[in-house]
Amino acid sequence: DNPIQRKPAWIRVKAPTHPVYHETRALMRAGNLATVCEEAACPNIGECWSQRHATMMIMGEICTRACAFCNVATGMPNPLAVDEPARVADAVAKLGLRHVVITSVDRDDLDDGGAAHFAGVIGAIRAASPGTTIEILTPDFLRKPGAAETVTEARPDVFNHNLETVPRLYPTIRPGARYFQSLRLLDRVKQIDPTIFTKSGMMVGLGETRAEIGQVMDDLRIADVDFLTIGQYLQPSVKHAAVERFVPPDEFAELAAMARAKGFLMVSATPLTRSSYHADADFAALRTA
Ligand code: SF4
Ligand code: SF4
Repeated sequence: DNPIQRKPAWIRVKAPTHPVYHETRALMRAGNLATVCEEAACPNIGECWSQRHATMMIMGEICTRACAFCNVATGMPNPLAVDEPARVADAVAKLGLRHVVITSVDRDDLDDGGAAHFAGVIGAIRAASPGTTIEILTPDFLRKPGAAETVTEARPDVFNHNLETVPRLYPTIRPGARYFQSLRLLDRVKQIDPTIFTKSGMMVGLGETRAEIGQVMDDLRIADVDFLTIGQYLQPSVKHAAVERFVPPDEFAELAAMARAKGFLMVSATPLTRSSYHADADFAALRTA
């Protein structure tokens, strides 16, 4: 087991006390919807849910992968719920969001990795909330030919897939994934539809070097990825990978400057940045820029 280190002073989160937080929670319960905010024990839940920003996690609460950083349960998932697209679309309409982020577990057990289900969710949200921009955070669709096409053709506004860490650390941190598969997925999406924004993210504090982070940024820019998020890895339990280092805020500012210099359109790099953190405000700012 890896003992959990005490968090530094710059990682502070507010307790969820806002009334809207409870409304958001009730809405997720009523729709029988899972959220990555809860499943990943995200430190920003108090802030995000107080603004109705809940990131729904589709295709069940059990993942076929077992990434060393992730709090989501691993095992054999249940069959897909056919009414899920309607339930998600209904919740998005009730939340009244101008931008929504939808993510999922990995479904290596399904022939298409869940691509058609993802497309169905996008279509249902579009129909119910035509003014809402849709950001999806997808699995890597490893060995699922045609999956990238199926999801891209459903025309999300932002297609996000996280590289999570540097290639050297994949065997221990993301053992079921392949770095170049993830990179290729992002590249493929842009080739299929260059009008869709692509986005990726990584965690720091797992033992990566500055040069390795720079290489990941370069690889993403070669794949024409538009947005980048970088946040501090936090260890969910003693069974997960240990935090190697808490990266101080000034180093995050340096990483953000480095990413902007490399040409990303939108960069978020702070200790509490997560893929979906402030995604709404970032996307709105980009559209008015
Ligand atoms: Fe949920 Fe993302 Fe906010 Fe975390 S940052 S609480 S995962 S919306
Ligand atoms: Fe968690 Fe995603 Fe890895 Fe599954 S694939 S264990 S949900 S990070």
